[in-house]
Amino acid sequence: MRYVSTRGAAPELDFEEAMLTGLAHDGGLYVPETVPEFDLGELAALAGRPYEEVAQRVIAPFVGDSFSREELAGAIARAYAGINHPARAPLAQLGPNHFLLELFHGPTLAFKDFAMQLIGQLFELSLKRRGRRATIIGATSGDTGSAAIEAFAGLEAVDVVILFPDGRVSAVQRRQMTTPAAANVHALAIEGDFDAAQARVKDMFNDFAFRDAVGLAAVNSINWARVLAQVVYYVTAALSLGAPHRSIDFTVPTGNFGDIYAGSIARRMGVPIGRLVIATNRNDILHRALETGEYAPQGVAPTISPSMDIQVSSNFERALFDAYDRDGAAVAQLMQEQRARGGFRISQGALEALREGFASGRADEADTADTITRTHRDAGLLLCPHSAVGVKVAGEHLGAAPMVTLATAHPAKFPDAVEAATGHRPELPARLADLFDLPERFTRVPDDMGAIQSLIRERISA
Ligand SMILES: *Cc1c(COP(=O)(O)O)cnc(C)c1O
Repeated sequence: MRYVSTRGAAPELDFEEAMLTGLAHDGGLYVPETVPEFDLGELAALAGRPYEEVAQRVIAPFVGDSFSREELAGAIARAYAGINHPARAPLAQLGPNHFLLELFHGPTLAFKDFAMQLIGQLFELSLKRRGRRATIIGATSGDTGSAAIEAFAGLEAVDVVILFPDGRVSAVQRRQMTTPAAANVHALAIEGDFDAAQARVKDMFNDFAFRDAVGLAAVNSINWARVLAQVVYYVTAALSLGAPHRSIDFTVPTGNFGDIYAGSIARRMGVPIGRLVIATNRNDILHRALETGEYAPQGVAPTISPSMDIQVSSNFERALFDAYDRDGAAVAQLMQEQRARGGFRISQGALEALREGFASGRADEADTADTITRTHRDAGLLLCPHSAVGVKVAGEHLGAAPMVTLATAHPAKFPDAVEAATGHRPELPARLADLFDLPERFTRVPDDMGAIQSLIRERISA
């Protein structure tokens, strides 16, 4: 399987190279040249099979020759052994035809564990084989950072550096990043918002000398291997609800567009997914882009669903690439416009293609709190604020097909918002019970690329 850049001007890579590289050298994102399709009989036969078995079947064709069958099976087994539920991604029911896909039973209680745990195992295999070291770097609006740290802490061939926006992540999120004691973990609090953190990470990747000197590797949601891991739970959820014999709709709380893009890959593989609904909080650039055709970032407004407080949605570039009939030059032009004037207009043809693939909606702060209250009252379930954004928007898109809303984090990651809406303070699962007793370890950094780079050089040589 070959991977091409969304901007059309970087070398084609195989799976392993695309995973290790992250961002393409032309600034684009890697996507598979073709999407392999399921044989329908084979898809039907996967219904009711263990998560790991479905994962192997979904992931193997995209990996090609990069890892052997046994290597991949071992990585998948180690990655998902830490998900504390026998189904890994179980469904709960919210209403007659509305289901919740619980993606929060992993070590950091958010869906990002599904991708990060696997990518940790694959990096380990790959770097050891090559006798190389890497510096994993990521910007986080909260959950990516802890998921990366959990996945990479203590591994021999990597350092993991995480930039998070100072003061804009919840106490649980911050402590999950700052309390791990492993020496290869470096948590940096940047004076700025998530978009600033993400921009500095991108700048570091575009500084090729630095990139090569420290063996920079990204595990942000731009990394294709992460998107790929997320395809699996769309398949298991759809199969549990009757696919391939009937069509299933999904609503996805979205910021960086990674998770919902994975859903579109599952659909292209032949899983009968009808609507894929983008659910945004009031940082609603994706919803506005689909409504108006104008991709126009505004300032980021802090919300009670901070992991979606994003105005530059990186993975949306992959959807644009498809919508522009995989014309890398056209996508490069749009990104150039975004840099020059802060936004761009989506062509009429591409907009129609996007609207065919995705519906959208938004929830403001009051909607989100109200949804947490009502879901607790009506179904007895506590939702985290991100999942509540999804449930609210899904409610506006219910149809004849079963609707699955992705529950992206455990309510105990956001106890204040949940308690304010329900009067119940969700408890952390036992394995995180000592989180507030452990000492924190992190470094504050200015929003300045040079300062961040020297700190990283210092740390990884120590
Ligand atoms: C990261 C995250 C999201 C957004 O996911 P994207 O892939 O960026 O769209 C939603 N909810 C939670 C809890 C998250 O951690």
